[in-house]
Amino acid sequence: MSTLLIRNASHLVTMDDHRREYAGGGLFVRDGFIENVGPSTELPDQADEVLDLKNHIVLPGLINTHHHFYQTLTRAVPAAQNANLFNWLKTLYPMWGRMTPEDIYLSTQTALAELALSGCTTASDHLYLFPNGSRLDDEIAAAGEMGMRLHASRGSMSLGESKGGLPPDSVVDPEETILKDSQRLIERYHNPNPGSMVQIVLAPCSPFSVTGELMRQSAVLARTYGVHLHTHLAETEDEEAFCLEKFGYGPVGYMQSVDWIGEDVWFAHSVHINEQEVKLFAKEGCGVAHCPSSNMRLASGIAPLWEYLRAGVKVGLGVDGSASNDSSHLLAEARQAMLLARLRAGLLGASLSKPDAPPIMTARESLELATRGGAAVLGRTDIGSLEVGKCADFIAFDLLKIGFTGAQQDPVAALLFCHPQNVDLNVVHGKIIIKDGKILTIDLPRLVENHNRASARLLNG
Ligand SMILES: [Zn+2]
Repeated sequence: MSTLLIRNASHLVTMDDHRREYAGGGLFVRDGFIENVGPSTELPDQADEVLDLKNHIVLPGLINTHHHFYQTLTRAVPAAQNANLFNWLKTLYPMWGRMTPEDIYLSTQTALAELALSGCTTASDHLYLFPNGSRLDDEIAAAGEMGMRLHASRGSMSLGESKGGLPPDSVVDPEETILKDSQRLIERYHNPNPGSMVQIVLAPCSPFSVTGELMRQSAVLARTYGVHLHTHLAETEDEEAFCLEKFGYGPVGYMQSVDWIGEDVWFAHSVHINEQEVKLFAKEGCGVAHCPSSNMRLASGIAPLWEYLRAGVKVGLGVDGSASNDSSHLLAEARQAMLLARLRAGLLGASLSKPDAPPIMTARESLELATRGGAAVLGRTDIGSLEVGKCADFIAFDLLKIGFTGAQQDPVAALLFCHPQNVDLNVVHGKIIIKDGKILTIDLPRLVENHNRASARLLNG
């Protein structure tokens, strides 16, 4: 049994059903779960560890719903800097094909370190290449050492160039191998219980890199075990043209044809989605990982975020792969989501007060996507808000930092309106991962050195 007491936070944001916020708030944690939350005067006054968070804002840990950790190894590659999705992929596939198990391990820790520093406590990752003996196990081990909550997606690619797919044949795998490994991973690692640190997700990469048969078989396998399904969908106009030509459907019609619609499914991007498809997502419970930086970086388009939220579609945020962002800063992604939603509102006539234009998105609404929204997308009811019985996953920022000076009247808005800062405290399941802005669970300078060496090797062949 261990207890942790957080008290005297200048501002505590619960993101509970009533969106309660407390001045002078705190939390009492026992064995990784919140036992009490509210004004510090109403909390127990002793614990194994006590942190006085005067001058800090405390909020639920942020949740990342789409990433490719391994891509931290290939950020800002000159030949892929100014390309659209398909050309960007074709440039990077051969470099990724040189990865080893050690590279998966190093890139996982790098991505998670950057995520943790930017406020993330739970991350979903989508690993879909397994060259040179790499396995999802390498990623799960690295996340375990960091102490972060992980939804590890067993991705896959089976449709190589010779069969009409986009990736080179050298980075695709036989479907039988993919399904067998998926089943092994679920049986070995998937924990569906409250407080779970590892969940497995099945995630064929995209319509243009796997067959319809693998999509169908993955859905059958996932539903046998009750694990979730994830893929990229409707990211670009190229993809839509590809689906129409190859399958005779648009991306969403194709998903319907392979039984990939339901509350156990979430899609990354979903930029090119029409009104009927928004309604379908809402009715059937499909979630969306909104990745604004990546969509801008690759000139993919602007997702209909307002339409999703108005219809009741579950939406979370994703930093996406670090080669198309090229950062894993989740708080910055929340700011980006807010700004892009405002730009779109302007393009649709908000500045002219057109009655059907989307409203201006607020900082709190964007933070809601990054917390409650992400939890809903991942199918979790034990994270995303600070409430009695939920996991003790929370973060804190020192409000006396230069970046917040002059914004003390609304520290919640300051998190997004001011330039996104790194956290000073990050706690996952009651365990302190970051204190005073320093990561406690790994040797960061050594990681950076090893990661840079691995990156140079991949780029130079
Ligand atoms: Zn992606």
